[in-house]
Amino acid sequence: MTPIRIAVVGVGKIARDQHLPAIAGNAAFSLAATVSPDHAGLGEVPHFADLETLLAEGPAVDAVALCTPPQVRYRLAAQALRAGVHVFLEKPPGATMSEVRALEAQAERVGASLFTAWHSRFAAGVAPAKAWLAERRIDNVAITWREDVRVWHPGQAWIWEPGGLGVFDPGINALSILTHIMPRPVFLTGATLHLPANRAAPIAADLSFSDAGGAPITMDLDWRQTGPQSWDIVVETDAGTLRLSDGGAVLTLPSDTAHCEDLEYPGLYARFASLVRGGRSDVDLAPLRLVADAFLRGRRETVDAFHD
Ligand code: NAP
Repeated sequence: MTPIRIAVVGVGKIARDQHLPAIAGNAAFSLAATVSPDHAGLGEVPHFADLETLLAEGPAVDAVALCTPPQVRYRLAAQALRAGVHVFLEKPPGATMSEVRALEAQAERVGASLFTAWHSRFAAGVAPAKAWLAERRIDNVAITWREDVRVWHPGQAWIWEPGGLGVFDPGINALSILTHIMPRPVFLTGATLHLPANRAAPIAADLSFSDAGGAPITMDLDWRQTGPQSWDIVVETDAGTLRLSDGGAVLTLPSDTAHCEDLEYPGLYARFASLVRGGRSDVDLAPLRLVADAFLRGRRETVDAFHD
């Protein structure tokens, strides 16, 4: 089968760490070009400063992976879809809910695939956790997502701007797992957002949710964690405790613990290839909706200014 010719747009940290290796490792794709305003390119494939020029002057591409900050994602995706090009959206899929809905409608009109990629859902423990929970009564869920922003996002100015999500940039990964593994719908019941005096986005948040069965869910989200980092989801059920740790890579059930290889981005690209080949889209806004609800319903508190 002819490989899907893909361009990577936004050659930043995640493109270099994950997208380029995952594309190189998947025979369903061939890397056709890269696009990034301030990057010199990889040397192996044509490089463009903007997507418009790539689409106008070639080489031909069948798909783009948008690895930019979310604030510019809509314009790029709409441009690609206008050219009939399939679109892979890094998480979060956009800066607002409604712009992603507009892209979904556009993709349907032009017959291109649109994929809202939630990489944490492809962590090794997540699918077995979902299967195990499907049969259980959920009594309580506690999410702890605490990391050091200076380690993981050094100098990323966009992340502190409106639409950059602040601490919800990692937090949305936990919510992508939660909304995937819970057997019933989840909704927000309360939130406190802690905003540094000099920033437009939160550095920490305390959140509460409920599922439709009444199970309480708490989320402790903090970017000021030094030392050991925590990316844990603990679910109490009628059959004992399930724990997903290391961002979903390690699953502990009452019977045993499973540590598996990290295959998140290979999993995402396998899924994207099957969507493109099958002429389908996969658009799920549930994690972004919970974040939007936190901004809609949350109390804001000002905390110490943050300097990189
Ligand atoms: P980053 O290192 O700041 O990279 C973003 C890149 O986007 C920059 O290199 C920039 O290019 C490029 N860019 C900005 N505007 C553009 C435009 N109009 N056209 C083309 N390229 C443009 O950020 P990142 O950490 O890779 O994160 C990007 C996205 O991936 C975010 O949504 C984030 O949530 C998600 N993500 C990140 C991680 C992670 O570990 N970092 C993990 C999973 C998902 P120039 O450098 O050329 O200016």
